[in-house]
Amino acid sequence: MEIENFTVFGGGVLGAQVAWQAAIHGIKTIVYDIDQQAIELCKAKHKSFAKLFKERFSLPEEKLSNAFELLSYTTDLAQAVAQADLTSESIPENIDIKIEFYKKLSPLLPEKTILTTNSSTLLPSMLAPYTGRKEKFLALHFANPVWEANIGEVMGHKDTSPEVFDTVVKFASKIGLVPIPIHKEQPGYVLNSLLIPLLEAAQKLYFGGVSDYKSIDKTWMISTGSKLGPFGIIDLVGMNTVYNIIMLNYKRKGEKALLERAQKIKEQFIDKGKLGVATGQGFYKYPNPEYQDPDFLK
Ligand code: NAD
Repeated sequence: MEIENFTVFGGGVLGAQVAWQAAIHGIKTIVYDIDQQAIELCKAKHKSFAKLFKERFSLPEEKLSNAFELLSYTTDLAQAVAQADLTSESIPENIDIKIEFYKKLSPLLPEKTILTTNSSTLLPSMLAPYTGRKEKFLALHFANPVWEANIGEVMGHKDTSPEVFDTVVKFASKIGLVPIPIHKEQPGYVLNSLLIPLLEAAQKLYFGGVSDYKSIDKTWMISTGSKLGPFGIIDLVGMNTVYNIIMLNYKRKGEKALLERAQKIKEQFIDKGKLGVATGQGFYKYPNPEYQDPDFLK
């Protein structure tokens, strides 16, 4: 099946990037968000991505204007999916919000539509029963920023049809990703199976008063040759998502320390509008974070 009409649900940190990545690769893309203000923010992000692609990747003006022609935005869910061949969902990482969303979405979908979730922590099998089309539901998980960390983790559940899985693998390639097929449902896919324990360990060291966040980042960057340390990564991921992941862990494990850490992140960052790279400040200040300073690792 050829994917011509693509719909992105949620125009936040990741949804805005996913939509841009598809449009820049020639796919007609519509962004749906529940909130008109979020749509305006998403449009503004697309303008800033265009600037980035022009300056950093020397993308010609023609390709940029073509991407804008392919992009549209709506707060009307029925309109968003009327033509959809494939969708990608990047609404908040909260199972109740996602279940409500899929219940609302299901009766509006044309039969052909394949649904993918970009959820970082929920398994496709947890959401599939609410989609009304288990065999056409799976995960296509993007990394942040989509165009640099350009892997596309494709993970089905036991009822996903193999043809649908292959269509999504091909689509991932078409929009400039390196597809990572995942053959068994795995919480955290491949990337987060590696990354979440790292970020968790870094938070424990910092919030437990063992070391400061810059020294923790320096340790990781120097010893592994990485461009980013765990707190640079946390800023990229965004504090809302980090907060939601800690709260999920708290609900699973009931450890008071997790709740305390989530509260610190809320008070010290989220309540102050320091959501990370997206708002210009998290642990570091952007667009020129200190860890990019050549002297940072000296
Ligand atoms: P975000 O909070 O930045 O964006 C969520 C967007 O969804 C907002 O614009 C919000 O207005 C909108 N929204 C809220 N409820 C909605 C609803 N019912 N219908 C439609 N839109 C709704 O979150 P994010 O960081 O972009 O994360 C979104 C998803 O992407 C999560 O599932 C997360 O696990 C996944 N993800 C995030 C990252 C990351 O680095 N941030 C990476 C990979 C995957």
